[in-house]
Amino acid sequence: MSTEQKIGEYLISIVDDHPGASRDIEVVYPDVRANEWDSYRSIALSSSGKFQSQWRGHLISRSDGSGPKILVDTGMGPGPHEHTGRHGELLENLSELNVTADDIDVVVTTHCHGDHIGWNVTWDGQTPTATFPNATYYVAANDWRYYSNPENGNEAFDRSVAPLEDLGVLQLAVGEVEIAPGVTTLPTNGHTPGHQCVKIESGGEIGVITGDLFHNVAQVSEQHWCPSFDWRTDLSTASRRWLMWRAQSEGWTVFSGHLPTGSSIGRIVQGEGKPGWEPV
Ligand SMILES: [Zn+2]
Repeated sequence: MSTEQKIGEYLISIVDDHPGASRDIEVVYPDVRANEWDSYRSIALSSSGKFQSQWRGHLISRSDGSGPKILVDTGMGPGPHEHTGRHGELLENLSELNVTADDIDVVVTTHCHGDHIGWNVTWDGQTPTATFPNATYYVAANDWRYYSNPENGNEAFDRSVAPLEDLGVLQLAVGEVEIAPGVTTLPTNGHTPGHQCVKIESGGEIGVITGDLFHNVAQVSEQHWCPSFDWRTDLSTASRRWLMWRAQSEGWTVFSGHLPTGSSIGRIVQGEGKPGWEPV
């Protein structure tokens, strides 16, 4: 089971931060009846029947070491996190890949929820600095507009995204933006107003980092299931169906945001009647 995968000349590596809190499925998926989980229980839920996610980012680099180093999402941040009392480990796990915070050229935010932006900024008292001092940070313009409005209060945004503007490192992304040759943002709105995936195309292969397009492996088969975290479920469902169809029909490698490490990279394949997840 893999924690990294090549897409043409690019290498995409998981950079884990911390295990997410374990939650009751009826809270996370309020519209899914308990018996609908039955056929997915063994693959989709923890041994105690709970929803368990992992917080992480992904590093895109060139296998030969040339070109920009791109970090997609920065996890939940330093913590310590309430449910474990432990700190986030994104920077340590990055250094395991022989990459320092200084080496990162670009940070792409799939969306502005706390578990994807936590390491963006480091606070010293009242003073924020960019954790990745040499990086340009790409944030979807739709998320920026929405969460900049105090009516849509988002503390994590105020702490970890809003300061990027004054720090002079913010780049708003509108539509599909090419970050590096073959690496583009792919709007998949719905989980948040500006949710975006990152598509990697190289050497005839395609990979996609999916952020929060889906949170659980059962959603690969039941693409209309939406967690309570989705901002607009009609849009998130449409985006999920559209992207999963393309990924399935064109054989894309999918780097999921929250599936358990070891089976979080996979392909969407046709199962018996419904699509299913095949880890690579
Ligand atoms: Zn998330």
